[in-house]
Amino acid sequence: MTAKVIDGKAFAAKVRGQVAEHVARLKEANGIQPGLAVVLVGEDPASQVYVRNKHASTIEVGMASFEHRLDASTSEAELLALIDKLNADPKVHGILVQLPLPGHLNSELVINRIDPAKDVDGFHISNVGLLGTGQKSMVPCTPLGCLMMLRDHHGKLAGLNAVVVGRSNIVGKPMAQLLLGDSCTVTIAHSRTKDLAEVCRRADILVAAVGRPEMITGEMVRPGATVIDVGINRIERDGKAKLVGDVHYESAAAVAGAITPVPGGVGPMTIACLLANTLTACCRANGLAEPEGLTA
Ligand code: NDP
Repeated sequence: MTAKVIDGKAFAAKVRGQVAEHVARLKEANGIQPGLAVVLVGEDPASQVYVRNKHASTIEVGMASFEHRLDASTSEAELLALIDKLNADPKVHGILVQLPLPGHLNSELVINRIDPAKDVDGFHISNVGLLGTGQKSMVPCTPLGCLMMLRDHHGKLAGLNAVVVGRSNIVGKPMAQLLLGDSCTVTIAHSRTKDLAEVCRRADILVAAVGRPEMITGEMVRPGATVIDVGINRIERDGKAKLVGDVHYESAAAVAGAITPVPGGVGPMTIACLLANTLTACCRANGLAEPEGLTA
């Protein structure tokens, strides 16, 4: 079997298009423009690229983008004061603090200072609790993107066996909660899991969020399964820099029914879902109907 390739780039473009249409309608009918504030502390090169991409995508869908670039030596008090200001600003519907923060800043404290209704990354402890109890919340962007692709591919997910490899707070755990919310039978695997290959082979849906290049190989994939590769790993092969996932693509694609490539799979969906979350936050803040198909 050769797997169907789930084209995350094309799907993300479709989601951004839906967001843009909704934003245009909001402006016309209600005179409201959704706004996203992104806070970057320090000069981390990867973070700078992410923030630049987020800014460009926000503008592209017609939202307002507010960038706050702070010096690496910014104190916790200064950063918290900025978050308080953004929390109170009616033009700002979403707030994202780019992680990782410099070592002297307490990420948990900073994230939990964001108004949960504006927490478009879905990392605030209130949103974590709401998701865990199956209530309306802001959902972390990467797992939301995976869920959207899975719903698009499968239609209904109820009753399917899902295995999530990885139990981080930003990917693995929320991914498992979302799949449970769609009535999958969910297993979470991690570094202490015994016989990982056997556990993975039970999956109709296999999500890899491990951070280890090409660790999930074809022999760990059940024939016909859907494989979602969240991993982004920079490696060197044949003297060239290369981006690979947590899944060994060639061997897995030979067995799976469908698979996301790296790059061009989950990655592009993350920013698209950030925009979707900002739109959702704006609609909720204004008591308007939420955009259909863009939330969990
Ligand atoms: P973390 O490092 O926070 O978590 C990795 C998880 O994988 C841990 O739960 C760990 O288990 C588990 N793990 C590590 N080694 C093994 C192993 N040998 N067998 C089984 N499980 C193992 O990573 P993240 O969740 O933050 O990210 C995962 C991947 O997703 C990374 O490649 C990252 O770059 C990528 N990513 C991609 C995004 C995108 O937009 N596409 C967004 C965010 C992340 P334990 O808990 O026991 O240590």
